[in-house]
Amino acid sequence: NLELKHLTKKYQDKTVLDDITLKLENIQILALLGASGSGKSTLLRLIAGLEPFQGGDIIVNNNAMRTSPLDQFRKNVGFVFQDHNLFSHLSIMENILLVLEKVHKRKRADVIKPVSELLERFGLIEHAHKLPHQISGGQSQRASIVRALAIQPELILLDEPTSSLDPVLTYEVLSAIKQLAEDQKDFIIVTHEIGFAKSVADYIVFMENGKIVEHGYRSILDQPQSAELKRFLDKVL
Ligand code: ATP
Ligand code: MG
Repeated sequence: NLELKHLTKKYQDKTVLDDITLKLENIQILALLGASGSGKSTLLRLIAGLEPFQGGDIIVNNNAMRTSPLDQFRKNVGFVFQDHNLFSHLSIMENILLVLEKVHKRKRADVIKPVSELLERFGLIEHAHKLPHQISGGQSQRASIVRALAIQPELILLDEPTSSLDPVLTYEVLSAIKQLAEDQKDFIIVTHEIGFAKSVADYIVFMENGKIVEHGYRSILDQPQSAELKRFLDKVL
């Protein structure tokens, strides 16, 4: 469950998130849509507790987070960044283990098996020993998805998780997400895959200029009410 109350975020004088209010219950996959610069990544970073904000509240599974981020809260949230964000001097396997060992205080011996299974599932096991620059963009994207999943978070935030994947891998990643959602994981996904949003997302949030312009069950993609969402869908489809 996620509740955003009058959330406001500014960079210097520029308002990037403008009075965002949203209450979600029993939503497993939320698709966050909007043009470039509308504030999608910023909203995810705030939900993850990675950045302070100027006003409002974020409440995830009944844990309130006011304007300063809380470490405790951040740990239950997995994040796949738009730019993958892997440490360049560490292998894929070490990148994943690092978070589990340092942040989550898990023992290597206990996590190596589940991590290997995830790597297998995402077609990465034979690349696990490589450094990030030795694998393709799509492979590093999948590696960062595995890293987020490995901590078994309650909520997983994915910022354009398929943007550098070909259609086959996009399909595989999106089906894996669908499967994981069936295991009671909650996802917020920034995506331009309208087909995916239409077929899998439970709920759609559409942003423009730091505001939520329209939100609702996925049928809003077939019957958008606002001129802004209509225009956006005409462009992306
Ligand atoms: P995209 O689809 O291109 O990823 P987005 O919807 O994720 O776009 P954000 O990255 O959230 O957009 O950016 C929203 C606005 O905030 C943009 O105008 C951007 O220039 C600005 N912005 C983001 N990060 C910063 C920052 N660290 N300092 C100043 N401005 C920022
Ligand atoms: Mg972004």
